[in-house]
Amino acid sequence: MFRISDFRGNDVPNCHMQNCPFTKNYMYISSNYRTPLMDAFLDSGKKLGYRTIDYNSDERIGFGYVQANTLNGRRHSTSKAFLFPFKDRKNLHILTQATVTKININHVNKKAESVEFVYNKMTYTVETKKEIILSAGCIASPQLLMLSGVGPKEHLSEMNIPVVQDLRVGQNVYDHVAFLGLVFQLNTTGIAITPSNTKIQDVKDWLFNGEGPLSLPSGVEGIAFVKTSVSEEEFDYPDIELLVGPLSLATQRSQNNLSGVKVDYFEEAFGDLTDEETFSIAPMLFHTRSKGQITLKDKNPFHWPQVTYNYFKDRRDLKTMVEGIKYAIKVGTSGNFENIGSRLYKKKLPSCSTLEFGTDQYWECALRSLATPMQHHVGSCRMGPAWDPEAVVDHHLRVHGVKRLRVGDISIIPIPLTAHTNAPAVMVGEKLADILKADWN
Ligand SMILES: Cc1cc2nc3c(=O)[nH]c(=O)nc-3n(C[C@H](O)[C@H](O)[C@H](O)COP(=O)(O)OP(=O)(O)OC[C@H]3O[C@@H](n4cnc5c(N)ncnc54)[C@H](O)[C@@H]3O)c2cc1C
Repeated sequence: MFRISDFRGNDVPNCHMQNCPFTKNYMYISSNYRTPLMDAFLDSGKKLGYRTIDYNSDERIGFGYVQANTLNGRRHSTSKAFLFPFKDRKNLHILTQATVTKININHVNKKAESVEFVYNKMTYTVETKKEIILSAGCIASPQLLMLSGVGPKEHLSEMNIPVVQDLRVGQNVYDHVAFLGLVFQLNTTGIAITPSNTKIQDVKDWLFNGEGPLSLPSGVEGIAFVKTSVSEEEFDYPDIELLVGPLSLATQRSQNNLSGVKVDYFEEAFGDLTDEETFSIAPMLFHTRSKGQITLKDKNPFHWPQVTYNYFKDRRDLKTMVEGIKYAIKVGTSGNFENIGSRLYKKKLPSCSTLEFGTDQYWECALRSLATPMQHHVGSCRMGPAWDPEAVVDHHLRVHGVKRLRVGDISIIPIPLTAHTNAPAVMVGEKLADILKADWN
């Protein structure tokens, strides 16, 4: 269950730092730090015809304050909300630092029988009396299924893994992709988070009270759900999300790792701005059409699998993102943004220097150079009926053709969502809990 603060991000009543009711099985949603950028963002939205909304309500399109699973300025994870409070239950055994390496499935009757895992360099096998639930996430769940003989026949044969069940495991991977390269300069002082603006007091505010600029979730203050002019979505359905925050690629060197930007490239592109007041509006594509795959590199469960995303393989993704960029620029330079001197930084990216800044061609090049995966993977163990050739699990999350084995994580979501994926992953867990309770009485 989610415990929701109001959509303006006001604190959960009677809950501050030490006295929050962790034991109540709640996952908190909050975010309280505000800068004048947020007023400008909402104002700009209104000027462009958008209402200020709670985007977790039934209103799908509009501008609103960010809502994140945080409590006291820190991530409030599923482990803190749902596992930690129950760790002493007699029917729950939690083993950390253990790596599952295989699910043993009987090749004749196709029953999942046991789980193999490595702990402290020793291999153990745990047998099941009822069933096994795999919940290793969108990358590791398909890897473990394939290592256990459940996957595309041709790929498993290539890997010399005996095939238990031929299913399209790992063949439908979608991720959201964003562009963090839009940098807006400001005429103000003290709004943006820059290395020289950040004071020791900010660190103390966050550390002891969970407040202040460092409590912003990933530096994001506001979110907009918009529908661009090239949208093929039916009705009022957003195709682009805009994320605004009082920092940018130019000021956040640490984000360069996240975006995989090389130091030389970064210095040439944004080096002039590192201590200037800047902010960013990042467009993110919701309904990615480009489909990726997860395959095994080899049979070693301790090796990463091969993940190929194919971002922008479908040109419609590129086209929608170019519109998203143009929209973000419109937002960042309208309404109250004008009053705080917001202007787009127009230095060309080194990899796109031969193109005219601001043209569609330029933005396509910028996207191919600087787009960022959002790690919102879905689809690798897609849910669907038995007649769907791409489906891996059924509507009760049972692996098609295998007995006593379910997958319960974000990998079962079949298509890219109009949302970030943490809450939907929790929803999958909650739904599976209901299914299990019903199935096992
Ligand atoms: C850097 C990053 C930032 C993100 N930020 C956000 C955000 O701000 N908002 C949002 O909505 N979403 C965000 N996401 C996405 C969100 O975290 C995921 O969609 C969500 O966690 C998926 O839940 P899951 O249970 O399917 O998988 P996971 O959360 O990945 O859980 C899988 C678990 O299985 C364990 N595991 C894997 N393999 C094995 C094995 N072989 N043996 C034993 N254990 C194993 C892993 O250690 C992990 O604990 C972010 C993702 C990343 C990577």
